[in-house]
Amino acid sequence: MADHLAVTIPLDRVQRIQLYINTARKSLPEIQAETGADYILNGTLFNMSTFEPNCHLKADGNVLCRPAYSVAGYSWQTGPDISEDVLPDDAAKNYIACTPLIVSGKKVTTLTYDPGQGGKRGRSAIGMKSGRLGLYCTRDGGTMARTPEQLRDDLFSAGWSSAVMLDGGGSSQCYFAGQQIKSSRAVHDLILVYLKKEETPVDEKKAVFLDAGHDASNLANRSPDGTYYEHEFCLDMAKRIKAHLERCNVTVLETRPDGNAVSLETRCQRVNAIAGVDLFVSLHSNAAGGGGWSSARGWSAYIYAAGGERERAAKAILERVKQAGVVVRSTPIVYNSSLYVLKNTYPPAVLIEHAFHTNESDVKNLRSDAWRAAVAEAEARGILDYLGIPWLEEEAQEPQEPETPAEPTEKELAVNWAVSEGILKGNTDGDLMLQEPLTTERFIVMLYRTYKKFMS
Ligand SMILES: [Zn+2]
Repeated sequence: MADHLAVTIPLDRVQRIQLYINTARKSLPEIQAETGADYILNGTLFNMSTFEPNCHLKADGNVLCRPAYSVAGYSWQTGPDISEDVLPDDAAKNYIACTPLIVSGKKVTTLTYDPGQGGKRGRSAIGMKSGRLGLYCTRDGGTMARTPEQLRDDLFSAGWSSAVMLDGGGSSQCYFAGQQIKSSRAVHDLILVYLKKEETPVDEKKAVFLDAGHDASNLANRSPDGTYYEHEFCLDMAKRIKAHLERCNVTVLETRPDGNAVSLETRCQRVNAIAGVDLFVSLHSNAAGGGGWSSARGWSAYIYAAGGERERAAKAILERVKQAGVVVRSTPIVYNSSLYVLKNTYPPAVLIEHAFHTNESDVKNLRSDAWRAAVAEAEARGILDYLGIPWLEEEAQEPQEPETPAEPTEKELAVNWAVSEGILKGNTDGDLMLQEPLTTERFIVMLYRTYKKFMS
């Protein structure tokens, strides 16, 4: 069982968010089996002896708890419209509140919670990050137990723009698309998220956004000897990977399809404007040292932080790259929350640093057509592994079968013999013999020549 699970779900993927009121005191796995929800997280604080909620709560139009105070929480009608709100909000069909941690992009300085909620415990939270619904859960007594303040700081540094701490401690439990944090406690209410189901075969096609780093005006990112430019390599690799993925029925989109400049902001906007992108892959080569050659070399992949789909994708790509015999760094997967395109794109994002253009051996590879082809294939295979799509071999160029000459007919053998013996005059006579009906005149001439050859 996991100690810590966190997901962010694009709101356009959300079909419905339900507040499940658990009067039957069912376990979370029972609720999952009953509802088929894709994500489930324990809800707000409740009184364990009366089994009544303690904070603002409204489910499907029914107000279940309405204390005298106002507090920041989340409200929605169906689900994809969920947003921060000041509760109670009579117009909303559903809402939930507990302990606000981050409100409108700002940390709440002094948190409000009962003493019983303090200390390092299992934690659950709901929030928003870059237009996505965030769900967070850690196991009580596990390695990721946190105080409410630490939870606030963790979520803030992970880029959440708002967050509400839900009931924690022994109530912390979740089911996130197959992964679970279990607790023996039946809780009063739970947040259930249902994703949109794929509707048409066209939508089932997986989509990958490729991001060729830099552009043709960038002449700074190059090898010290000037034989290699990063922008050219990145675009070439994008085209190579694209060809493999498209052949395997993946939709490929590009942030930079040609040599022209595209800002990092525009790249992210292009990605985020398309719904249902399954993976974003940014392509680069690395650099080290102060301008000359340096010893650092090898392939590595950067992701925003540990875990989640991005790490699964990075590992799948790494596996294929290693199989292809590519030199990889000693820490081939690097967590970096400051890289712009990793921070500001909605889909799972991986940035690949293929090799160091400041290392002489690596530059030989980066310039090599064979190396590029092998690495592009490996990375495409890794992306397909991650997407769960089979690799389709390239259509082999039809080998030009050498024509096996048909056995000569007896007539042809006879003509060849007659030509070689001089009875027919060269190939012209021979060809005529094969095409034309034999005339009496030609027959008598041939007979005469045969006689002269063998009898005289
Ligand atoms: Zn770069």
